[in-house]
Amino acid sequence: MASTKKLIVGNWKMNFTIHDASIFVHKLAKEIDVHRDVEVVLAPTLLALQPVSLQIDRRQFKLAVQNFYWRDFGAFTGEVSASQLRGLVEYALIGHSERRHVFHEHDKDIRSKVQAALRNDIRPILCIGETAHERAAGETNDKIHDQLLGGLANVTSEEFTNVVIAYEPVWAIGTGNNATPDDVEKAIRAIRRQIEHLYGKTAAGHVRILYGGSVKSDSAKTYLATPGVDGLLVGGASLNVHEFEAIVAAAHQTGNV
Ligand code: PEP
Repeated sequence: MASTKKLIVGNWKMNFTIHDASIFVHKLAKEIDVHRDVEVVLAPTLLALQPVSLQIDRRQFKLAVQNFYWRDFGAFTGEVSASQLRGLVEYALIGHSERRHVFHEHDKDIRSKVQAALRNDIRPILCIGETAHERAAGETNDKIHDQLLGGLANVTSEEFTNVVIAYEPVWAIGTGNNATPDDVEKAIRAIRRQIEHLYGKTAAGHVRILYGGSVKSDSAKTYLATPGVDGLLVGGASLNVHEFEAIVAAAHQTGNV
């Protein structure tokens, strides 16, 4: 089965100046205990990655980039590549719903980014999930199927061992609308079925799958105890020291039941 170590990722989105990020990490470092059964990943804005990287203890926090461009070098004004992020971050969010829906990234861009991350030793966190409209039309599993196929095209079985999947129903992100544990369990079962089809039973059992969508400290435990959930991708609540600390603590407690 997937690792018993829970993975908690805090996506800060476009929040905090460099100065605020530094103060926040300082407070977080004091509040969050290092647990061997929980891996905590922070995804600051690009600008804050480097200073935060100098501030953190990598046993306590790892880093993720929220976005990057898939080419390694070249005339791409304003972009940053995975090759430039190599060594700085362990993970990269790819296919986040805000990238798909606000910046119109398509599966082609997403799969190029997955490839770029893998060739630069960065673990992709491939985000997938249906919109409210797709859900209402009963298309959740079709969407999951299409986004997995689209994002993972050309990823070998060996490369796939470094991929994390985040199930994030679009209608639950930043809205306060909670997916029920039953919704989450069903979607994650569909994801593992598809992974089994693509990479086999062992890969389906081992791949880490996160849930994301308006998770708060009071709902974290329920999601973490939902069968198939290996961790959480947290947006809004990761900007609050006490909320985020409580979510990490919930992951530690869930690992110990
Ligand atoms: C996210 O940014 O991936 C996310 C799940 O945000 P929120 O927790 O705010 O819904």
